[in-house]
Amino acid sequence: MNTKRLINSFCELVSLDSPSFGERAVADYLAEKLRALGFETREYAIEGGDSGNLYGYLPGSGKASELPPVLLCAHMDTVEPSRGKRAVIREDGTITSGGDTVLGADDFAGIAAILEAIQASEAHRPIEVLFCPAEEVYGKGSAQFDISVLKSQECYVLDLGGKVGTAAYKAPTIISWEAKVHGKAAHAGFAPQEGVHAIQLAAKVIAELPLGRVDGETTCNAGLISGGTATNIIPDLCVVKGEIRSFSHSKALERAVLVKAAFETRCEVEFSSAVNITAYETPLDAPVAERFREACERAGLSAEFVPTFGGSDYNHFAQKGLSGLVIACAMNNVHSRAEFTAIAELENVTRLTMELIR
Ligand SMILES: [Zn+2]
Repeated sequence: MNTKRLINSFCELVSLDSPSFGERAVADYLAEKLRALGFETREYAIEGGDSGNLYGYLPGSGKASELPPVLLCAHMDTVEPSRGKRAVIREDGTITSGGDTVLGADDFAGIAAILEAIQASEAHRPIEVLFCPAEEVYGKGSAQFDISVLKSQECYVLDLGGKVGTAAYKAPTIISWEAKVHGKAAHAGFAPQEGVHAIQLAAKVIAELPLGRVDGETTCNAGLISGGTATNIIPDLCVVKGEIRSFSHSKALERAVLVKAAFETRCEVEFSSAVNITAYETPLDAPVAERFREACERAGLSAEFVPTFGGSDYNHFAQKGLSGLVIACAMNNVHSRAEFTAIAELENVTRLTMELIR
């Protein structure tokens, strides 16, 4: 591999503005890179964004050209602050942002490793790449991708924190919910008896709602609350928003029913919930996991399979029958201005990706 080229493309990616639904600059940069590497590319538009899902196909080379294809996937957006980013290479071999934005190693470290692995591989199987927009909003880009376009039955999604060699084999269902609690407005001084206090009603429900870790594989949270219009008015509306996560899809759905019932028994409420992503679990004896184990070994890394309680683009692909893993790709302290990567880890994930496509 060419470490200088790897670092350069990582730094170039970081310098591009990359808000969710505003990944145009990243998609253009990558489409050009892929075509220069011999990929056929196509962008599949999504609703709500200025860039679509960027797909590329490259036939295999050398002895590996007859092998089944494999999909490598990463996302093009970053969390905020996502504009005006720059990569600062430190003396100790780490790379940070300038301090005023995120770095975007989540997920440009994954993209840079994919690009370098392909360039550095002499013999690789047919490769499909998919660079998705809007991953940071529950994978709203990949959710709109029609996977029947794909030739691969297996995929590796480079989008996980932790040491390179770590792979997430299971992830939860995530449901978001909203309760609009209705009361009745009245003057707080002149006629409080005529009011129905929406905030107090909502507060009573929240106080009794099981929150946090509600069973061995499920969490429930009320994360936002708003209501009221003035200090002298009995509030007629209180809106509470929260989320539920569970490794068990059915438990997540059941929990949403319980939360709804808790509000409905006490309040006049409009309750809504939405499944953002659905749980998956990849068997550890699946071929995609076997190959990962072997690739780690050949790359001199120790393979570790972990559950994650976060979502990724793979949640959507798993629903559609694609076998895969989400793998660590040299990102640390993600979703913060203290985010960093390290040159040695970027090299490791590149080496690992080279082995995965061999
Ligand atoms: Zn990510």
